[in-house]
Amino acid sequence: MRPGRWILPAKLIDGTAIGRVMRAELTAEIQALKARRVIPGLAVVLVGEHPASKVYVRMKGKACDEAGLYHETITLPKETTEAELLALIERLNVDHKIHGILVQLPLPQQIDTQRVLHRLDPAKDVDGFHPENVGKVSIGEPTGFRPATPYGVQQLLLRSGVETTGRHAVVVGRSNIVGRPMAALLLQDAPGGNATVTVCHSRTRDIGSMTRSADILIVAIGKPEFVTGDMIKPGAVVIDVGVNRVDDPSTKRGYRLVGDVKFAEAQAVASAITPVPGGVGPMTITMLLYNTVQAARQWAHP
Ligand code: NAP
Repeated sequence: MRPGRWILPAKLIDGTAIGRVMRAELTAEIQALKARRVIPGLAVVLVGEHPASKVYVRMKGKACDEAGLYHETITLPKETTEAELLALIERLNVDHKIHGILVQLPLPQQIDTQRVLHRLDPAKDVDGFHPENVGKVSIGEPTGFRPATPYGVQQLLLRSGVETTGRHAVVVGRSNIVGRPMAALLLQDAPGGNATVTVCHSRTRDIGSMTRSADILIVAIGKPEFVTGDMIKPGAVVIDVGVNRVDDPSTKRGYRLVGDVKFAEAQAVASAITPVPGGVGPMTITMLLYNTVQAARQWAHP
């Protein structure tokens, strides 16, 4: 083995395959709920014409159809006022067909995102962004909704047989959507937790020395190929949450998707790694379905 390399190229952690298995497993619970006349229902609210958001919303609707969940997509014009959106949230909060509500972010500038997220009934907040759910996840209370992306990362680790207990997990990025809840999940005294957790962000000094000390490195910063091979400890497990478009005139679309990790370099050093696309992305939608079923289950058995 040469220094700075691992014995074999990293094993791929295949989020598409793991997501497919997990959705199949969920079918039994959906059938059991349906037998009791509970059809888990998700409302997805899209404000404006953000192109990536439209794609995500369409994918979420398709995933609900395939899983047999009821869903409504409510599309509002980009001029929608905060008061109009809050009124819609209030209506969905009391709609018995709807167990989960997801407000697709980002919202247009005239709307205060936090005010909207705080207005959601926490019992329907399947994205896990309401402070009540943030608090529950932080103290390890299982009725809290875990934000879908870090929840999906934790499932990737568990289902790939990656031991987290006692290992040093370094999370790069501290957003409310990924980094912070990721750290909270890794810290819980539960399966997929019990790690020693370090969180890095844009003010972290000498980030390479932090990432090189990671047994499990999770990167969510939105900076194309930021983490290079020399920033990774040989044999580490690397989870790349980033999804970035980079220009590539050789492709039909004129761009390609890359993660926050330089994949080829990382693959030569790590023991296991997620690809982009096909790693964390498919898990995010899978975990949204899990959260919607959890919401319906908790509604049926309060
Ligand atoms: P975000 O809200 O922009 O947060 C980025 C975080 O990265 C911030 O905490 C920021 O630090 C930190 N950061 C930025 N530059 C850094 C640097 N040079 N060194 C260290 N830390 C740095 O992003 P996000 O919503 O968490 O998303 C991150 C990435 O994950 C994006 O590529 C996004 O597209 C992707 N994503 C993927 C999925 C999926 O399903 N696959 C889901 C969600 C997000 P400060 O706090 O100090 O500014």
